[in-house]
Amino acid sequence: MEPRLAAILEEVRASRGRVVALTGAGISAESGIPTFRGQDGYWTIGSRHHMPQEMATQAMFQRRPDEVWRWYLYRFGVCRDARPNAGHRALVALEAALGERFDLVTQNIDGLHRKAGSRRVFTIHGDAAWVRCAGECGQPRLDQPDLGPRDASTPFTEADRRALSCPRCGGWLRPHVLWFDECYDEENYSMQSALRAAGRADLLLVVGTSGATNLPMQIGELCWRRGVALVDVNPEENPFAELASHAARGFFARGSAVERLPAIAAALGAAG
Ligand SMILES: [Zn+2]
Repeated sequence: MEPRLAAILEEVRASRGRVVALTGAGISAESGIPTFRGQDGYWTIGSRHHMPQEMATQAMFQRRPDEVWRWYLYRFGVCRDARPNAGHRALVALEAALGERFDLVTQNIDGLHRKAGSRRVFTIHGDAAWVRCAGECGQPRLDQPDLGPRDASTPFTEADRRALSCPRCGGWLRPHVLWFDECYDEENYSMQSALRAAGRADLLLVVGTSGATNLPMQIGELCWRRGVALVDVNPEENPFAELASHAARGFFARGSAVERLPAIAAALGAAG
């Protein structure tokens, strides 16, 4: 490990500092989950092609709930079959070592942190494991029904429609995920909780996120303004690397989560 990175981590470990890990699509890519941005998430309805930024919206769900669900059932099937990797496991070990001094904020909806065993997780973009009433009738969140294996060509059936109906009001259930034309909130996406965690962190450990979305960048800037240690793990430089380069105790650790996290977690006190 680079001496400067080792020194930053050792200072946090020795002072029993609080750590917030912020993870994005990069950590899941190593478990075989595509980002679904751009070509990976492209979808055809009739003769028209749609990008994820169009499919994952309230507006599209209102027009074509069946097609939006068909797209998600395919995506969720990919998530369901994926297994956590050494990067996820390193964060579980870090939580075991730090207990309440550790929080995990993730942009990923794939549930891999939960599968790996992480408990203190804020899923700021939602979680594929849940559905909720699209009409907000008061029905509590439900488990995502198991509708069997799916691929991109699996049709949407009447049985799917019934399984995705709200038991309380009979309207549509929707995926428990934040859409591109919606805002972060506390009730569904733990926005304030994530910002509170960032507000008391002594180290922000950013892993595999591009910084393209709003709340992760807010968390980065909050930590940067507070002058806390900032480590960015990513194969490519990104806006967080830029923040880290301007931080007194900042470091851009080039590499993937699997390559870098086990040693970083160990340096912070995690058992190997
Ligand atoms: Zn309902």
